[in-house]
Amino acid sequence: MDIIRAYASNNLCYIAAKKMTPKGIVVHSTGANNPMLKRYVNAPDEVGVNLRKNYWDIPKPEGKNMCVHAFIGYDRNNQVRVAEILPLDICCWGVGKGKKGSYNSNPAYIQFEICEDNLHDIIYYEKAFGVAAEYCAYLCNRFNLAVDSIVSHKEAHERGYGSNHRDPDHWMKNFGETMDDFRRKVSCIINNDGSICSDKENADTSRKIHDGDLVSIADNAVYYNGKAVPDWVKSLRWYVMGNQNGDRAVIDINESHTKSIKSPISVKYLTAEKQGIKK
Ligand SMILES: [Zn+2]
Repeated sequence: MDIIRAYASNNLCYIAAKKMTPKGIVVHSTGANNPMLKRYVNAPDEVGVNLRKNYWDIPKPEGKNMCVHAFIGYDRNNQVRVAEILPLDICCWGVGKGKKGSYNSNPAYIQFEICEDNLHDIIYYEKAFGVAAEYCAYLCNRFNLAVDSIVSHKEAHERGYGSNHRDPDHWMKNFGETMDDFRRKVSCIINNDGSICSDKENADTSRKIHDGDLVSIADNAVYYNGKAVPDWVKSLRWYVMGNQNGDRAVIDINESHTKSIKSPISVKYLTAEKQGIKK
């Protein structure tokens, strides 16, 4: 799996370096509207420059003793990726404490944050939780963890091993999903080599193109009439102006609003990059 490694060596948690053997995974989300990794991760070549330097590679981010093992969000090229900021054999300071103890150290869980956006963009939601599920599958295989040992911060609290937070269940609820759905997806990736899980993703892709969406075009794309799509068209992102049936869409205005081409194309060549305002 493609993982950025940029350890937060100035964070007090990294310096404490308490050893651990992972017994499970806690999924968090950040609680702030900023889906860019650079907000939290100090890796300018991979995630872009954080001029304010308020990433977590400082002794106490936001004045607190806190750190997690990884973040998931947009890198500098607007790809959703994983960035690990702690080695996975060091306890993190993530989930706080509950009645029975803390998944920070006893027992120690790997913990990561999914960078939140405004919590209403289904395209970012599906990309971010899709990468999170792949990352969990990778961690389960690598550390021989059961899928049942994956919990949200909210569930960690309910089990008595974390502070009273709602993340990320409150975000999933906006899209009708729960942690059970998430664990099912992780199992699917582990058990089926990705094939059945990606079938579902393909079905989602066709559902996802709507009037007003901003889309990119596949390299092998042809227009609905069979003619080749010129390279300059494929190099730009376009707004979709109509989706008359399940397969045919019309790409019209480019992202910077300088061109209009009104060209019909099959939705199978389109990837939604931003959700349209209109439904
Ligand atoms: Zn949390």
